[in-house]
Formats: sequence, structure tokens, C-alpha cells
Amino acid sequence: MNAATSGGYDLVISGGTLVIPGVGQIRSDVAIEGGKITAIGENLASSGAKEVFDAKGKVVLPGIFDPHTHISTERSFEEESETETRAALIGGTTTIGIFLRSLKESYNIHLPIFRKLMDENSYVDSVFHPQIFTAEQIAEIPQYAKDFGIRSFKFYMSGMPGVVDSITDDLLLTGFKTVAALGPDMIACVHCETGSLIDQARVELQKTKEGTLADWERAHPPEAEALAIQTALYLAKIAGAHLYVVHLSSKQGLEVVRTARRNGMRFTVETTTPYLGLESSDSNGFLVKMVPPIREKSHHDALWQGFAEGSINTVGTDNTSRARATKKPEAGLHGARPGIPVMGTHLPALLHYGRERGVPLEILIDRATRAPAKVYGIYPQKGTIAVGSDADLVVVDLELEKVVDAKYLNGFSDFSPFEGKKLKGWPVATIKGGSVVVRDGKIVGKRNGRYLPRQARNAAPDLEWLRRPV
Ligand SMILES: [Zn+2]
Repeated sequence: MNAATSGGYDLVISGGTLVIPGVGQIRSDVAIEGGKITAIGENLASSGAKEVFDAKGKVVLPGIFDPHTHISTERSFEEESETETRAALIGGTTTIGIFLRSLKESYNIHLPIFRKLMDENSYVDSVFHPQIFTAEQIAEIPQYAKDFGIRSFKFYMSGMPGVVDSITDDLLLTGFKTVAALGPDMIACVHCETGSLIDQARVELQKTKEGTLADWERAHPPEAEALAIQTALYLAKIAGAHLYVVHLSSKQGLEVVRTARRNGMRFTVETTTPYLGLESSDSNGFLVKMVPPIREKSHHDALWQGFAEGSINTVGTDNTSRARATKKPEAGLHGARPGIPVMGTHLPALLHYGRERGVPLEILIDRATRAPAKVYGIYPQKGTIAVGSDADLVVVDLELEKVVDAKYLNGFSDFSPFEGKKLKGWPVATIKGGSVVVRDGKIVGKRNGRYLPRQARNAAPDLEWLRRPV
């Protein structure tokens, strides 16, 4: 810890309890200059700071890094790069990973525009994970990496009819080899579900006409997830690729993860706050419909166990914006559209459900900050509170209770799958790029989000779960 020596800070966050992943909880001030953290120590506020934020009685966390979001699922990229990142910032998220989608065209057409929009419109910083669907796109991966500073790509083993295409196992292997050849820091993200099992399940499900949210679980059986993880692990091993399993949703999937880790496989697993916070018996019904589905309690319990023990390493949202009118919950089992807006509830849901389960605060925050920042090559710029790191922080009142209402989440969505639930633990301020930009749920500062091109590193990310099996 560096103590204050000079003063003249732009901003001091004083009197709070810092939660620093890998270090612990420390009562300390944080001083900021030029958008960076420049000192951590006691009584920094007394040395003539331009602005002091009183965080007494609060915890101060690294800005949350949500590695799994979708922008432009309902409205244009231009609109959602503003609305969804505003919701993120107010909820305490200061950096996002965006899964870009171009089903057929080269990303060379889109990347310059996406990058410009994230520089100009966004409230938060961002990294890109282009979703790869064709052999032509695979051939261009080295160029995307070089020209746009991209170190992570995503593959769908099973897409969604009419929305997202699937990639065959042979293309997946070629994709893994292409990614792995670019260096040990490259990440291959995979949506793991086996398509033929889902096709069969969907045919069966047609027999159920009305149905409930719980029936939707049968459209995406957990066996489809478990089998696909096994396949992806095998192919990643052949290719020498770092596999990142996105949004683990089932206990069967978790069992495969545990077995593979015991066998010495090195890979990373993510889940999402909707899977940790919601169950298929939820009274919000088809407002909560998504893919893979929100499942019943035994999966929920298993995911929390996996999270606490370290089988699950990171947590994101899988945010997909929807309006109630186009979500169409009344269209039920077959008609309601999948996808849920959860940017603004990410941190409160993690804190509320995690603390209810007795998961230590440091572990909750590590999975949402340091762990994904390390995986995606932006640590220690992001994901921690340290001298030299970007001054992205969130001040949280762990005792503050609020009933979720889309009105104050500030995305464009007019509903939340968590709506009506009382969550405990909400941000009261977000500091982004060295300024207090959110106070009590309102934007009070200038937006300063930037796209973060990533440098190639000649080393695998330093991750404890890659060094030893959990
Ligand atoms: Zn997703």
C-alpha cells in the first residue's frame, strides 16, 4: 500500500472498506489522479483533494467487469451502446465484454463501426468477442486480432433457429486451432449445447400447448449442455486452445466440469446472475424465458456450490435487451422470445443471493472483477483496486434494500426478470475513469467509455484454476 505523500488529488474516496480480490477487506482511502488510482492509505482526504467522496459505512469494490453481454439484440448498436451501458454503469458495472454478431459477413465491415460507437456512445469500457459462424470468418481471425486488438472469439455449438447459426464440430476444431495459433493468451468462448438433442426435445415439446416456464426447461435438456462441454473440451485439448464455457446452467454440465478438472484439464467456466438468482418456478413466468433456460432449484443449488468451490470461475449477465411488447410473455411456451435485460441487476443479484448463501464477499467480487479481467487480458488495468489501475470503482451499501423495478434500472427495457424481488446490497455511486459518474442511481458525470484494444501477450493468463485442478 502506498501512503499519501503529495496531495493534490482529483478525488479521494474516504472512509470506506475496500474489497480487493486476492487481498481481502481493508479500511482505507483511495486517491485518484488523471483517471488512475495513485494512492491507497489512511487520511488521504486531509491532503487537499479537489473532491472527497465520503464512503463511510460502505464497501468500495473494483468496478464490475461483466464479460458476457449482447448489444443490439432489439434496437440498433448505436442506440443500445448507449442505453445498455447506462444501465450497466448505474448498476456498478464499468467494463463489459460484448459478443458481436455477424452471421455471414466479414467483421471487417462491422468492427470499425462497433469500435467507434463504443468510443463515442458508451458509458463503460468494453472488449469485443466476435461470434464466429463461417469458414471465411475463421480465416480472418488473425486479421481481426491484429487490426482490432481482439484476443477472444465465440462459437455456438447450437444456435437458435432463425436467430443464431450453429457451427459444426469440424469448423469448431478449425476455429480452436486458429485461435490457439495466435498465442497462449487467446480465448475460445463456446456456447455448449448439442443441437440434435435440442431439436429432438423441441419436437417433443410441441405436444405441450400451453405450458409454464418450467416446461421451457425441457426444450434445452441439461444433457445437451453436458455432452457439448465434453465435446468442446476434447476438441480444445486437441487444438491446445483455452476453452471458456459461457453461461453454465446445469448440474449435469457442472459434473462434466468437475470430472475434467480432476483429470487435469485447464479451462474456464462462467455462469450468470440470472442462473444464480432465478428459478423456473418464478412468478414472472415467461418474462424470464431464455436460452439456456432458467432451471429448477437443484441446478440453482449446484451452480452456487460450483461457484463457491471454484469450479465456476467467472460471472456475467448474458444481457439481452427486450421490451415487454416484443418479449411477448403472453405468447407463452412457444411464442415468448428468449433473452432478458439484466445489466442493472447484475451486482445487486450477485450480492443478495450470494450473501444469502453465505458465499464470502471477496469470492463474489473476485468472480465478477479480477477473474474475468485476468482471463480476458485487461488485468490489472481493470478488476482490482491497486496503484496504477484505472480508477473504476463502485461504492455499495450492503444494507440497502430495494424492490427491483425496471423504471430505475435505466436501460431501455420496460421490464426486469427480477422485478418485484427485494434485493439487498445496491451501489450508491459509480466512479468511472476517475470521476463520480453515478450517485444514488442517477448519472451525474460525463460518459467516458472507451473500447479497449488488447495487446498480444506471450503467456497464458495467470489463473489459479489453470495451475491446479479445483
Ligand atoms: Zn450470450
